[in-house]
Amino acid sequence: MSAVMPTYAPSEISFESGEGVYLFSDNGKKYLDFGSGIAVTSVGHSHPKLIKAITDQASKVLHYSNLYKIPGQEHLAQRLVDQSFASTLFSCNSGAEAVECGIKVVRKYHSENGSPKKYKIISCTESFHGRTIATLSAAQNGKHMNGFLPMLEGFEQAAFGDVDNIKKLITNETAAILVEPIQGEGGINTADAKYFRELRNIADEYGILLFMDEVQTGIGRTGKLFAHQWFDIKPDVVAIAKGLGGGFPIGGCLANKRVSAAMSPGTHGSTYGGNPLASAAANAVLDIVLEDGFMDHVQTMGSYLQSQLNLIGGKYDFLGKVKGRGLLIGINCEPEIINTDIVRLAENNGLLLVPAGNNVIRVIPPLIVSQKEIDEALSIFDHVCDSLRN
Ligand SMILES: *Cc1c(COP(=O)(O)O)cnc(C)c1O
Repeated sequence: MSAVMPTYAPSEISFESGEGVYLFSDNGKKYLDFGSGIAVTSVGHSHPKLIKAITDQASKVLHYSNLYKIPGQEHLAQRLVDQSFASTLFSCNSGAEAVECGIKVVRKYHSENGSPKKYKIISCTESFHGRTIATLSAAQNGKHMNGFLPMLEGFEQAAFGDVDNIKKLITNETAAILVEPIQGEGGINTADAKYFRELRNIADEYGILLFMDEVQTGIGRTGKLFAHQWFDIKPDVVAIAKGLGGGFPIGGCLANKRVSAAMSPGTHGSTYGGNPLASAAANAVLDIVLEDGFMDHVQTMGSYLQSQLNLIGGKYDFLGKVKGRGLLIGINCEPEIINTDIVRLAENNGLLLVPAGNNVIRVIPPLIVSQKEIDEALSIFDHVCDSLRN
């Protein structure tokens, strides 16, 4: 038995190196990485600017604590604030921690504003927010909770995309609505801009906060820095992680002015959060994704990939709808075929994809992907589907 705690069932492949959208296994085989380590390697593998930022910082100082000022963290926070609704950033190390921070700031906001009894969060069916107890409690995924009960009290669920359902659940104990702009793990489930605008209105009407989990959708994945920007709304709190470090573990919780004002020294913390090395990595990623034309590139490549996938989907009965935005794309599999079977076959043919909930295949290449590389991936995908036809 492996000494690694058996929480994963990994394929036998391991990789020795990466370059752009390619990964190279230790037996020398080349793979097109259209999974990006689950939407993490946003700027591709071995990006020279990211390598330089990390090695430069590593040669100076890796870590010191938040007991001292960390200029790289201040710079990162200021840049994300300048680009968004937010007034402040809390830096942490993962997506689950970013959501945990959001849960805490939401409660603290109401507590500081004379409503300590407002603590309940309405989340959505099919959501995913991480694997800690609080984030499991928010998502209420039966499979993930099994064996870990009891969950935390204070979370209720509404059907994703259903405004009336949320309205019915609101009481004078409701603190916030927690929602992903596009549900990633749940199967690339989308809702229209109207839904999110109504959520903003409801939140304002009832004095509750709009808390968006952009751990998967954020940092350019959908073709805007944050996916909620497609809906022309301003959330109160946003969790980010995955693509932020381009492969270096870092997460963050962005909060607007009134929510930030509820936090004060000692109310939250993280030993590693935003340390010099992590902040250097995230700043390098921002250097790249904030370049002129980068988001246009993601949008153009996303539209191209989606339209070509639609063409391939039309050829095979076992493939269904293509959905998503930018380079966060899913393709439905009909019940007669299992998404993981296609993913495994694609892997054998040199194309890495990621399964998602509801029998969906996720196609989430690095944001720097070119049209030629997309064509290469599509040709493998088409070949794999063709081999499944009989
Ligand atoms: C991946 C993910 C998380 C959890 O992130 P970790 O870094 O694995 O803790 C939370 N929310 C969403 C939407 C995610 O996609």
